[in-house]
Amino acid sequence: MKFYLEPLGCVKNQVDAENIIARLNSEGAEFSENPDEADLIIVNSCGFIEDAKKESINTVISFRKDYPDKKIILSGCLARRYEKELKLELNETDAVFGSEKLDDITTLAFNLTGTTRTTPTHEAAADRTKLFSLPGSAYIKIAEGCNNHCSFCAIPLIRGRLCSRSVDDIVNECRTLLKRDIIELCLVAQDLASYGADTGESLAALLRAISTLEGDFWVRLLYLHPDHFPLEILDIIAGDKRFLPYFDIPFQHASPTLLRAMNRRGGADEYLNLIEHIRTTLPDSVIRSTFLTGFPGETDTDFNILLDFQNAAMMDWLGVFIFSREDGVPAYTLKARPSKKTAGERKQTLEIRQTPITEKRIERFIGRRMRALVEEYVDDFYIARLFCQAPEVDGAAVIESARDLPLGAFVEGEIIGRAGFDLRMRVT
Ligand code: SF4
Repeated sequence: MKFYLEPLGCVKNQVDAENIIARLNSEGAEFSENPDEADLIIVNSCGFIEDAKKESINTVISFRKDYPDKKIILSGCLARRYEKELKLELNETDAVFGSEKLDDITTLAFNLTGTTRTTPTHEAAADRTKLFSLPGSAYIKIAEGCNNHCSFCAIPLIRGRLCSRSVDDIVNECRTLLKRDIIELCLVAQDLASYGADTGESLAALLRAISTLEGDFWVRLLYLHPDHFPLEILDIIAGDKRFLPYFDIPFQHASPTLLRAMNRRGGADEYLNLIEHIRTTLPDSVIRSTFLTGFPGETDTDFNILLDFQNAAMMDWLGVFIFSREDGVPAYTLKARPSKKTAGERKQTLEIRQTPITEKRIERFIGRRMRALVEEYVDDFYIARLFCQAPEVDGAAVIESARDLPLGAFVEGEIIGRAGFDLRMRVT
């Protein structure tokens, strides 16, 4: 049985998609990069916010239009969140798979296509051979679900309570990926900072275990909730250069009134102290964050607090999103929601003010010799990433090189300039 999978949504959903492929592969099905050749199409959907839901449903409808006779399964977050409704209403699918149990999707896939499966070995079932990341890099999901219950977020509704994997299980997966020449391990979860809160483990213990692995590789941490940032990881990162001093910390806002309404604890002062602590312990550290505009109750005063925080924090990278009123979450019923126009203007103001901040922050690398992970060759240039650039969201290192460079490998070179949010690098 040949199948095609369309991965939508966040990187945590991407890991699920890769696990679905690994499981189906291990039971004898063949993954095809081209839906034309497939007997089965799986749309691994996102159900986080309105726009993502629309994209998932439109993707199914367009596959049905292009492939009227193929079997189509809708999996992922949208299927988990609205399984009952979609089974009734989304006739373009042959099945809506709302469960997280991988066993179930393979049974469904083989039954739906009327094909027989082979018995998988445990290793094969867990070995993600198909990765949607660029060469040399892989995401590792260390936990599922979230207990933070931010009032605007539907994730706990979709993914349930925090469920951390064991340190041994994660280290084994790191070892397997390193054996397959992966040199950047991006640890992800809904909130890395909560890792182990349900099992007695901790992010610090996990990093110590990973640091026992042999080899030359990077470990990148993505999504650390600021309210319980585990400061003890900073010394571990300082002690092993393979841990990148790169921190994605979604502050969301800085006005205490708004943060309380978001069911968050911090505020501008606490967050500035955290940033200062990180930069004091790791002077080279890079901080990415996310802001949310248009949350119910957000006033001009709140917004000015956020602007002042942006100026004081001087973050390296910033993403700004507009509040999406999601059914089933506490913020759905909150009043005094700013208009979409106001929310959009505030987003634009933050982005415009962030541009010179980011440019100034990345200019500190000019003149330095640095390592980069080479990912692509485009229009006579190699596109790579430095430690200060996460996959897909930050700028890149644009490399001029007289010699051929291996994709998915590290190279050393000099940073010779900036072009927008990218850094120009020379490799000799
Ligand atoms: S920490 Fe992130 S995933 Fe968890 S509830 Fe808050 S926004 Fe959602």
